[in-house]
This record gives sequence, C-alpha cells and structure tokens, in this order.
Amino acid sequence: MTNAPAIGIDLGTTNSCVAVWQNNRVEIIVNDQGNRITPSCVAFTEDGRFVGDGAKNQIDKNPTNTLFAIKRLIGRRFSDTSVQNDIKHWPFKVVVGTHDRPKIVVNYRDAEKEFYAEEISSMVLVKMKEIAETYLGCTINNTVITVPAYFNDSQRQATKNAGSIAGLNVMRIIDEPTAAAIAYGFDKIIEETEGKQVLIFDLGGGTCDVSLLSIRNNNFVVRATAGDTHLGGEDFDDRLVDHCIQEFKKKYNKDITGNARSLRRLKTECERAKRTLSFSVRETIEVSYLYDGIDFSTRISRARFEELNIDLFTKCMELVGKCLSDAKIDKEMVDVVVLVGGSTRIPKVQQLLQDFFQGKELFKGINPDEAVASGAAIQAVNLNGQSNNEVQNLVLVDVTPLSLGIGGGTGGCRMEIVVPRNTPIPTKKQYVLTTIVDNQTSVKIPIYEGERAETKDNNMLGMFVLDGINRAPKGIPRIDVYFDINADGILNVSAQDRLSGHKNEIVISKHNGDLTPEEIQKMVEEAACYKAEDEDHKVRVSLEDFADKVKAMAKDPGLSAPEKKSMEEAADNAISWLDRNHHANIEDIHKWQRELEITIRRLMKLKRGGIPYDHVLFMSLGVE
Ligand code: AMP
Repeated sequence: MTNAPAIGIDLGTTNSCVAVWQNNRVEIIVNDQGNRITPSCVAFTEDGRFVGDGAKNQIDKNPTNTLFAIKRLIGRRFSDTSVQNDIKHWPFKVVVGTHDRPKIVVNYRDAEKEFYAEEISSMVLVKMKEIAETYLGCTINNTVITVPAYFNDSQRQATKNAGSIAGLNVMRIIDEPTAAAIAYGFDKIIEETEGKQVLIFDLGGGTCDVSLLSIRNNNFVVRATAGDTHLGGEDFDDRLVDHCIQEFKKKYNKDITGNARSLRRLKTECERAKRTLSFSVRETIEVSYLYDGIDFSTRISRARFEELNIDLFTKCMELVGKCLSDAKIDKEMVDVVVLVGGSTRIPKVQQLLQDFFQGKELFKGINPDEAVASGAAIQAVNLNGQSNNEVQNLVLVDVTPLSLGIGGGTGGCRMEIVVPRNTPIPTKKQYVLTTIVDNQTSVKIPIYEGERAETKDNNMLGMFVLDGINRAPKGIPRIDVYFDINADGILNVSAQDRLSGHKNEIVISKHNGDLTPEEIQKMVEEAACYKAEDEDHKVRVSLEDFADKVKAMAKDPGLSAPEKKSMEEAADNAISWLDRNHHANIEDIHKWQRELEITIRRLMKLKRGGIPYDHVLFMSLGVE
C-alpha cells in the first residue's frame, strides 16, 4: 500500500490516454493543451524535442523527424514482414540494429540519432506520467499499461521495458479489451453483469481487436480474442488519400505520390474529413498548394467513403465471427457489445456490427477513446491497494493470445502445443520430452508461438539446450518441460531431466532481441539527458521570448530615443549571446535573463522618475 496514486495508461498506436482513480471514480486527465487524449507522437526539431500535440502539429513541416505509430515496431524484429511493410509507408527512416531489432533514425541538432522503439515509446510514457503528475501534484511511479490482446510475449516485455526507461514501475500489463470490459462492468451492480457475455469491439487508429469476456462474481474472464494488428482508422485514411491521388491525377495529370510533404498534408486533411463524415453525409477535402502550386479540392460523400472501405469494414466483422467461433458461442448468446476506439464512431461500422448481432443495441455508454485507460486506472488502484471494497473485489483473468509450444524436441518440425491459445494466465503447464537417438546426452528445446502445424510457419521465441542427460536408449529419458506464464503474460520455460536432475531454463524475452538490464539502464540515463536538454531548451526559449518582448516594447512611442536604444541593445545582446552559445547551461541563461530584467527595471525606474516600475507593463513581460 502506497500513498501516491497509481495511474492507468492506454499507450495507443495513434493516441494515448491517462486516467486515475480519485474521489471514488475514474478521472481522465487532460494534457497541457486541454485534451483528453494525447497523440503518441515524438518529434525532433531545431527547437528541441516535442511529444504529443506539439509533435503532431508540426508533422507536415518535419515528416522525416516526426515519429508516430511506433507501437507497430515495439518488440518486433526488423525482418518481420509487417515491419518491412510499415517501413515502406513511413516518412522516417528505420534501419536494422543488433539482434535484428529495428532502430529509428532521426536528425537531431545536426547529428544522426538512433533509437529503439522502446525509447520512443518511453518518451510518450514520460509525457503521460508528466500529465498525471501536473494534475495530481505528486510524483507518480506505479502504473498499469495496456497492450493489444494480440501482443506476443516479446511485445509485452518491450512495452514493460519502455515503462522502466520512463521511470515507471509497471505493476501490470493488461490487455486493452480486458481494460475496456472492466470500465464497462465497473459501475454496474454485480447482479446486472453477473454471467454476462461481453463482446469488446475495439477499432482504433491502427488495430482491430475483438474479445469475448465472461463476467462471473465480478471476475472478468477473457474467453477468446481475435485481432488484426494492421486494421484501423489509418487504413481508412489511406483509402481516402488514394482516392484523392487518383482525382488529382485525373484533373491535373500529375502524380503526387513521390512528394512526402504533399502526401502528409493530404493525409491530415483526409483524416479530418473522415471524422466529419461520421456526423455529416458530405464533406469537402481541401488542401491549398498541394502540389506544383495547385490547390486541391474535392467533395466526398459518406456513401463514397463507405464504398472505398467496405472490404476493410467487412474484415472487422470477420474478426468478430472468428472470436465467437474460438469462444464456441453463438452470436445470440452475446449480451453486450461494447464499442472501443475512435473508429467505432463510423456509422457504417456500427451498422454492420448491429446487423451482425441481428439488431442488438450497441453499448455506447463509455467514451470509446477513454474506456481502455479507465479500465487500466481501475486495475491500477486495485493493485496499488488504495481502493475501496468495490474495486478490490475485481479480479482479472487474461488468456494467452497465441498457442505456445516446442518444436523438434522429438525430431521433425511439428509444433507440439504446450499451452493452447486462450488459456487463462497466469498458468504453468508441463510437457514431457524424450530423446530421439540412443545415448543422446543433450536436447535442443526451441520455443514457438502460433497456430500453424509446422514450426517453420510459427514465430520462434527462443531456444535453449539441456545438457547432462543420462545415457540411455532412445525414448527412455524423461525430460519435464514447464511453461510458466506470469500475470503479465511473460513466459519462462524450464526443462529438467528426471534421472540426472540436470536443469536449464530460459526467460524468452532475453533471447528474443529484447533489452538487457544494462541496456535499459543506459536508456534510462539517456532519457534523463533528454529531459535535461528539454529543460535547457525551455529556459532558452523563455529568454528568447523575453528578449523579443523587450524589443517589441521598445517600439512604445512613449519612450525616448536613448531609452529605446538601451532596451534594444540589451535585448539584442541577449539574443546574440544565445546564438553564439547553442549549448549554454541553464545557470548562464538564467544569469542573462536576470541581467536583462535588471536593465529593464532600471530603465523603467528612470522613466517613472524613481517611482516603482509600472507593474502592468512589467507583467506583460512575464516578470513578477
Ligand atoms: P484510437 O486509436 O482509439 O485513439 O482511435 C484513433 C482513430 O480513431 C484515428 O484513426 C481517428 O481518425 C479515428 N477517429 C476518431 N474520431 C473519429 C470519428 N468521429 N469518426 C471516424 N474516425 C474517428
């Protein structure tokens, strides 16, 4: 039990949201721009590093150094087909790092800098932590972070590492749909939700996740999940962008596809139009000077938008069908369909879903952007031990999103499933292996995840070797293999020869290209440097700003020529000192700021004949 509150963070592909349990309810915390969601966007610019709205707002000007959708890279290998496909569409550069890990390359302060996905995600997490700290007025450490149901072990571990780099204690990683179900069920009296089958339909910016949960005695049991990590609002935007590219080609016989900036500007406008089309049946997409000085404008109807995306919407419905068949229940047995994610506002998506469930009303009682963070906040207070009885009673049961098993142990390349898909976690399962040749003293144990019959079609998570097996004819030794998955979904595999007692084990994440504790520590230190740099930058900007205001004030017609000159000179001196000292430390900048203030105060006193300076005038300079 600690006094500082614990927060829940929905670390999204497109946007993130932070919530806290306070005053017996969940509060969504607004950011410094007054927004309840914050773009998961990080930008490196001449003026420093920006995270959130500040980063997103300058994306058109600086596409190669503005990073978004980094969640698509986290815990993945560079050679993954999905990573290769994503890279093709991104304006920023991604290269291969050690252990086949993707590294993002940006140009920052005249130098090339490389970052792992964990580091960029940690910058978003730091932003969310700061948003919470500003609101709550205390330091926050404990947090629950959500991930898509389909995240594998490596992606979960990498997300946890991002939390550590951000200086957070990640108490639990929970599935986004589970969090949404908690938010749905939480404010209902137990009898109302008892025995209910809840389908969570989560369609966000980048992913579509469908989960079926049962609620029993305030327990949330995930019965099945299905999802697509590349299906969401951004795909709908891309369809609109493609449509506009064709229109432009037809009208002006020009192809804009080679121009990253034009594409980016068009995409921003298409995303806006898409959102409007959820509420109105027609919208105009307009971009001035889109390409070659040509202004672009086109009208699009909701019907046309739906037509452009119908195959994608249908794919979402197929996932609903898959989830139900995995859970082995009929659609009639589903009691509630909860909408989560910004893209569930699209009327056609709602209509298809309602049709699928034969006219059933969809539950829209929670804001689709905030449901996941709300559930995470409830889980956070539960784990932090600060909750009332209502929250404490809540128990979560997550499941393994993919089957886990071993291959090749008994020869061949068949996937031997040890933990079937959708097994509730935490769990510990045993599998017995033997040798395939006489007098075999060691055995390789490769670990896979996936649903395909042959290991080559599944994802290899890691491998270890068990030595010291007592010599015996093939098929005689008995090797116990244990798959132990903790509540965060992180897998530990151990193997022991029954006769010799020899044992070996593996924590998959370490062998799967994830970060070592030393690497994490190094990143924590680097993150602190970036934070210090940001602080320096803020102070620098504040001096620049102050000097600019002084120069503007010097234009006041009430001032004499010598007074104007003194003020302008003092401001110019400060600005040129800043220009000459790009890496000046905070103390020196403060010193310059103080000196400039003193000069102005002195001038003001002269001006007022020794009477204290004009408070209002000085306030306009931001000086107390
Ligand atoms: P999320 O990942 O849940 O934050 O959802 C973000 C996605 O929701 C983005 O692709 C947005 O464009 C999309 N979105 C937000 N509001 C709307 C809306 N009113 N209509 C359609 N899509 C929306």
